[in-house]
Formats: sequence, C-alpha cells, structure tokens
Amino acid sequence: MRQTYPFTAIVGQERMKRALILNAINPQIGGVLIRGERGTAKSTAARALAALLPEMEVVQGCRFNCDPTRSDLFCDECRERLEREGVLPTGLLATPFVDLPRKCHRRSRGRHP
Ligand SMILES: [Zn+2]
Repeated sequence: MRQTYPFTAIVGQERMKRALILNAINPQIGGVLIRGERGTAKSTAARALAALLPEMEVVQGCRFNCDPTRSDLFCDECRERLEREGVLPTGLLATPFVDLPRKCHRRSRGRHP
C-alpha cells in the first residue's frame, strides 16, 4: 500500500493548502486549480488532504459511486436498479483521489452521460 505524506507536514504553500481545505469544507466552491513547478508538492498536498477526508456513503456496486441520499442525481444504472430492486445496498468508501487529465472539467457527482 502506498504511504501518503501527511498534509500537516507540508511546509509552505499556505495559499494552496488553504484552498484545498476550503474546497473540502465546501465542495460548492467547485474545485481548486493548482499549478506550479515540478516538485512543489501539488499532488502530494491534494493526496494528503484526500487521505484526511471521511469515508463517504455510496451505492454499492455503482461504478460512479452514486450518493444513496440523492436519488435525483443517480446514474442510469442506479436508477434502473432502484426500479428493479426497490432498494439499493449502500457502503462506505474512502474518499478517492482522482487525477484528471488537463482538459477535463468538473461534473457533479451522479450526472453522467
Ligand atoms: Zn450509480
């Protein structure tokens, strides 16, 4: 298992760390764009903060990790499963760290093509 560098051990980069923390507190901020030279702890900080976040409740077996409390945002698969099965099993999942390619932009959880 990969060892995550502790968020609190990152020295400097105060604005970046504050932006990450604020985004974790209020995801409606919509994300944080971090840029900088190689070796300035950008990915390390984001991974370290993700490791501190609480587990999230998801629909078990959903590849998009749909939020079971927001059926209005379910993916097509969860919507069909709910109609078929009546109730969906849930589970806890560690907050994932997702590394997106550059030209990718944010979509709300549960809104899929
Ligand atoms: Zn789903």
